[in-house]
Amino acid sequence: MALSDKLSTNIRKVVPYEAGEQPQRKVTKLNTNENPYPPATGVEEVLSNMALGALRLYPDPASKNLTQTLADYHQVKENQLFVGVGSDDVLALCFMTFFNSGKPILFPDISYSFYKVWADLFKVPYICPPLDREFRLKAEDYWQENGGIIFPNPNAPTGIYEDLSFIQNILDKNKDVVVIIDEAYIDFAGVESAASLIRRYENLLVVRTFSKSHSLAGLRVGYALGSQGLISGLNRVRDAFNSYPLDTVAQSCAGAAIRDVDYWEGTRRRITATREKTRERLLETGFLVPPSQANFLFVEAGDAKGFCDALWKHKILVRWWDQPEIRSFVRVSVGTEEDMEAFVQCARRFWKEQPTKRQ
Ligand SMILES: *Cc1c(COP(=O)(O)O)cnc(C)c1O
Repeated sequence: MALSDKLSTNIRKVVPYEAGEQPQRKVTKLNTNENPYPPATGVEEVLSNMALGALRLYPDPASKNLTQTLADYHQVKENQLFVGVGSDDVLALCFMTFFNSGKPILFPDISYSFYKVWADLFKVPYICPPLDREFRLKAEDYWQENGGIIFPNPNAPTGIYEDLSFIQNILDKNKDVVVIIDEAYIDFAGVESAASLIRRYENLLVVRTFSKSHSLAGLRVGYALGSQGLISGLNRVRDAFNSYPLDTVAQSCAGAAIRDVDYWEGTRRRITATREKTRERLLETGFLVPPSQANFLFVEAGDAKGFCDALWKHKILVRWWDQPEIRSFVRVSVGTEEDMEAFVQCARRFWKEQPTKRQ
């Protein structure tokens, strides 16, 4: 039964983020950019060696071992690193911690759709500059007065990467606000991370995740790299909110995953090779596919909704957004070679049956 009007008046109403579907039956799941390969074997060892008694105690509130492992890996100090329950948790805390000036924050109109949800949730005003025709960010849009800047690099759902000189330009023009680079897909770009800039820019925060390149979306671990001042701000807000965010299992498994560099380098290479091969084949068919530096392809398909439906008939799940600028595109995660073979076959059939799709 619905609540009474009086009771519901004071219940917070927000439009939540809509996550991609997690179907319970077996499908070719190319809709949420999960890694098609299992996590490193070190993770399995940690799980099988973990004593049940370890769960009796609260976890280490500071995730000290994991923080140390990540700090060593990135060659930064421990006080330049913050871990959270997936990068979604880290990003939500960032919105709470850094975007309080009352001035609008800036992020691209085509970007990770969660940013808008957090901005609304935390009552942060925002402006969304449009991308150019090639889906590139325009630096000058980020020179206006603002309360902070955030964007993914490579961007989602386009897969397009902006180089470090672009990011430095934005940092130079915005010294007094926090600039957050969401590097969820950076490991698939084969380029230098903006993390190399945190020593030089105390206003830069780089956010990363274990969900994509480390095959651990189910574990929920993400982290941020930044100056000591920004990291201690995040720590304070976290401790005002939930002092045990990362559970014991997540802390141990994530550490094992990051240490096995050879393993995830290998899966990363396989995924990028499959991505390039798939893109070639789609281009040959006639699809328009911008170059991607992520573990997904953004495919222009004309009647993209129809394309999704056609794929779903073959139990292939992809993602589509009903947003004017991108409604003719679908986003396809890069799966295994076999997954992509099945996808390309369906895509070819769809293309043949839609002869008048593009002018
Ligand atoms: C997947 C994704 C995230 C969230 O990752 P989690 O660590 O699983 O919460 C954040 N930002 C972007 C751009 C993503 O694509």
